[in-house]
Amino acid sequence: MPIPPKLTDAQRKSALAKSTAARQVRASTKARVKAGELTLSAVFELAQSDEAIAKMRVVELLESFSGVGKVRAIATLDRLSISQTRRIQGLGSAQRAKLLLEFPDRVAATKRGKLIVLSGPGGVGKSTVAKSLRQTQTFWVSISATTRAARHNEVDGVDYYFYSDAEFDSAIKSSLFLEWAEFAGSRYGTPRKPVEDALRDGKNVLLEIEIAGARQVKDRAPEAVLVFLQPPSWEELVSRLEGRGTDSPERRAARLALAQDELAQSSFFDLNVVNERVEEVVERLIGLATHQ
Ligand code: 5GP
Repeated sequence: MPIPPKLTDAQRKSALAKSTAARQVRASTKARVKAGELTLSAVFELAQSDEAIAKMRVVELLESFSGVGKVRAIATLDRLSISQTRRIQGLGSAQRAKLLLEFPDRVAATKRGKLIVLSGPGGVGKSTVAKSLRQTQTFWVSISATTRAARHNEVDGVDYYFYSDAEFDSAIKSSLFLEWAEFAGSRYGTPRKPVEDALRDGKNVLLEIEIAGARQVKDRAPEAVLVFLQPPSWEELVSRLEGRGTDSPERRAARLALAQDELAQSSFFDLNVVNERVEEVVERLIGLATHQ
């Protein structure tokens, strides 16, 4: 056996960091394959420019496909006369072609998107986060129906569908809502069909709704991930609510009491995220949607 070269402390540290990073890349690639986000050909493509992926053993890659597992991965390699120790970078073009025939790019089409519900007390900044997410490719953001009047800068069909009371009643009667709730004297509901269509098409869906509605979603779609947006502090929430300006003292007191009640329900949620910076919350939600 050749004698390993002597490494300085700095060299050893850097080699260790490199191998940890490579392991993380391989683990996340396998997780994405398992989740149906990456096809075999997509992994081969990534391996061209990513050394960590190029060095992954083919058997590890195959067994991360949903429903394959170690036994079937080894049997497939044996049948195709590919060594069990082969790494992706060592595959010949004929071997790649045979593997692609075994694992056609069928995964992405059937994979459902993730349903993420963003909720939290009034004034915490949910709608700013939702607005940012609407501009990313990661989420389809649901448009709710409401009986409240449009604000001056709101557009029907973009910010909300503005319904009359009778229209809202009729939508409830026809079970058109995934959930609906009353908030501050108006009703709000999530139209069911667009959400179901988007999920079936593999899109990640974000609902930005108040807490009673979030609870209903969990009952009806237990796979939904419920995220509770927390203010950085109570004082911060109070100042944001008071900053809304035109409320009478009674209405302000009612808003604060409601916020206290809303904060008390945070433990029902799958995840609590503090809204220190909008960009961080956005990143966190994108991470939730794109990782296992
Ligand atoms: P605003 O009137 O300020 O736009 O919204 C008031 C509250 O209603 C916010 O907490 C918002 O998250 C919530 N909301 C908006 N759309 C829906 C919905 O479809 N369902 C439920 N349950 N709440 C919603």
